[in-house]
Amino acid sequence: MRYKSTRGGVSGITFSDAVMMGLATDGGLLLPEHIPTISPQELQSFRSMEYVEIANKIISKFVGDDIPGADLQNIIERSYSKFAHPQITPLQHHGDVHILELFHGPTLAFKDVALQFLGNLFEYLLGQHNSHMNIIGATSGDTGSAAIYGVKGKKNINIFILHPYGRVSAVQELQMTTVTDANVFNLAIDGNFDDGQRIIKEIFGDLEFKQQHALGAINSINWARVLAQIVYYFYAWSRIAQDEATCVDFSVPTGNFGDIFAGYVARQMGLPVGQLVLATNENNILSRFVATGDYSIDTVVETLSPSMDIQVASNFERYLYYLLGTDSTALVKMMDTFATEHVLTFDATQQKQVHADFSTMTIDTDVTLKTMKDFYTQTDYILDPHTAVGVAAAQKLHCASRPMICLATAHPAKFADAVLRAIGIDPPRPESLRDIEQRAKRCERIGADTDAIKEYIASHALS
Ligand SMILES: *Cc1c(COP(=O)(O)O)cnc(C)c1O
Repeated sequence: MRYKSTRGGVSGITFSDAVMMGLATDGGLLLPEHIPTISPQELQSFRSMEYVEIANKIISKFVGDDIPGADLQNIIERSYSKFAHPQITPLQHHGDVHILELFHGPTLAFKDVALQFLGNLFEYLLGQHNSHMNIIGATSGDTGSAAIYGVKGKKNINIFILHPYGRVSAVQELQMTTVTDANVFNLAIDGNFDDGQRIIKEIFGDLEFKQQHALGAINSINWARVLAQIVYYFYAWSRIAQDEATCVDFSVPTGNFGDIFAGYVARQMGLPVGQLVLATNENNILSRFVATGDYSIDTVVETLSPSMDIQVASNFERYLYYLLGTDSTALVKMMDTFATEHVLTFDATQQKQVHADFSTMTIDTDVTLKTMKDFYTQTDYILDPHTAVGVAAAQKLHCASRPMICLATAHPAKFADAVLRAIGIDPPRPESLRDIEQRAKRCERIGADTDAIKEYIASHALS
């Protein structure tokens, strides 16, 4: 299996190279040169397999002979050994929908599914090449802690995560700062999330510094993250399918388009998916795109589902590439237009294709709160606000002929304030959060100053 860039400037590279490259060197996103398929017999066989076994079958198809089978299996097994539930991503039936709980990883959000895998993969590949990496990133909450847990204690990797001091939720801050492994550096900056992102961008822009310190990223555009997420679409299907032809719908609360793109790939591989519901909060550029073909940037507004408060979705280019018939020249033209005009338009044929690929719904704060409350009243099940966006959209678009699977992307205890507001109950804490306030912390407070942060990184980086 070989990989290429959406923009046509990179091709023929191995899976390992695609993982280590992250963003393609031509500015595009990496994709497999063709999407492998799953036969009906294979699909049928998934019905009697456990999560890790299915993961191994799916992921192997995208890795090819680039990593020996036994090594890959070992990486996958270790990645899911830290999940608190024996089924890894259990599927539960509540009301008239199925809830796919993706939040049993160490930081209680679905990002663990991908970042536990990516952390182990990085460690393995760096070990093979006798090299090292210093990961830098900025977070507004979920990604930072999942990235830290993905690489904590790993050999040949240091990680530096910037978060805005006093501006992430108490639980999110503690999840990051109570990791005391020597390779983890939490930097609380005196600034906001945008300052953090700007600083990271500026540091990556200093190519000499980047090379000197072997800087790497762990953001949502890494192909391995999408890959790990394809697995649970197959897993969820396999828990309720009657036979290989059973068709199911999925509802996906969407921000950066990574999670739902994984569902799109699963369907391209041959998974019988009816609707893929793209659910957004008020930051609904993607929902507007699907509904009307209008892809235009608006300002980001704060909602109850902060991990979806995104306008420009970093994985969207991958879908665009397929929508344009894998024409890199047309894609580059579109990305250039978007960079200057901040808006894209689509013709009737393209819109027809988009409607075949996705359904959509924008869910505002009132409906999110009402969905959390009603769902709890009717089923005794507590939804986190992100999951509630997906459930609300699912309830509106559900059709009786197919099961509807809603992706539950965060544990309610992670967003306890919103839960309290919606249903008047402080959600019970899972084991991983108990006594988190009492644990030792490790965090450095630092000015939102690129030079100061570069100096800090230079003196704590692996070399
Ligand atoms: C990141 C995140 C999302 C959005 O996922 P994307 O892949 O960015 O679309 C939804 N819910 C939660 C809890 C998240 O952390």
